[in-house]
Amino acid sequence: MRNFEYFAPKTTRQAVRLLAKYQGQAKLLAGGTDLFLRMRQRVVLPEVVIDLKRIRSLAGLRYSSQKGLRIGATVTHAEVEQHPAVRRHYGALAEAASWVGSPQTRHRGTVVGNLCNASPAADTAPALIAYGATVHIAGPHGERTVPVEAFFQGPGKTVLGPDEMVVAVSLPPPQGRHGWGFSRRTRTAIDIALVSACCVAWAEGNACRDVRISLGAVAPTPLRATAAEEVLRGQRPTPERLAEAARLAAAACRPISDVRCSAAYRQETAAVLTRRCLEAAFAMLGLR
Ligand SMILES: Cc1cc2nc3c(=O)[nH]c(=O)nc-3n(C[C@H](O)[C@H](O)[C@H](O)COP(=O)(O)OP(=O)(O)OC[C@H]3O[C@@H](n4cnc5c(N)ncnc54)[C@H](O)[C@@H]3O)c2cc1C
Repeated sequence: MRNFEYFAPKTTRQAVRLLAKYQGQAKLLAGGTDLFLRMRQRVVLPEVVIDLKRIRSLAGLRYSSQKGLRIGATVTHAEVEQHPAVRRHYGALAEAASWVGSPQTRHRGTVVGNLCNASPAADTAPALIAYGATVHIAGPHGERTVPVEAFFQGPGKTVLGPDEMVVAVSLPPPQGRHGWGFSRRTRTAIDIALVSACCVAWAEGNACRDVRISLGAVAPTPLRATAAEEVLRGQRPTPERLAEAARLAAAACRPISDVRCSAAYRQETAAVLTRRCLEAAFAMLGLR
């Protein structure tokens, strides 16, 4: 690691000013579980590190039945995993957060840092996509929002400009009772996902009113499997439809082969995990 200048601003505005001043030379620090590793490996060598943990407005995790859930930029995985409202209304997100690394990683690492690191394997991304989350971004000209699935541009790349930062991620209020499934495959207990999948489904009578399916680690960015969703929307979730949805979800993947596993393994596993997630979600809704 090489020497760097350290700032701990007290407000988002100060942080954005620092980003603008040190364009491209500065890195934001939340939990540091990704950033410090990359700095030690000398993959990233910032001249300036801007610590966000002293900014009080970024620390909150708020829920209301009218507004939904807002997760501030310094909220950790452990806070999300343990929060009663998250467990009750956004179960797939609580489950996803509970799988990130070890207890140490979860008490230090943040959900927003997980998104900003923009790994295709980020564990919270599929659940956030499935719940229709929105990313809130602050920059020198004010705040803008983007849907979470549009936030990622490729491995390590997001829509953030050099003078922008994420202040929060928000999830819409619950739209009635839902069922969900989250599943991931890794080589060892603490490892990033080879493949992950998540789905959230809503029922009307005996049919699926709506469903959102998303996958991680099978393309340059986490993805939403919209063609797979279409097979189930407005239909009874029969075994044949679940199998077809799983097949279409796997067809949407653009996996790579790497040291962890082959592209073929990822594609096949995407179908298996999608089907398992759908079965779990519809079982929660009493439709299976
Ligand atoms: C041992 C270990 C195990 C891990 N296991 C997993 C795992 O199982 N699943 C998984 O998904 N991840 C895993 N990770 C990766 C990491 O812990 C997560 O991605 C974590 O959520 C990152 O959050 P952080 O707060 O530590 O981010 P940081 O390291 O502080 O930041 C990550 C990146 O995001 C940028 N950033 C941070 N906050 C903002 C912001 N508000 N606006 C703009 N940019 C910002 C930083 O500049 C940096 O580039 C693991 C890491 C370790 C060390």
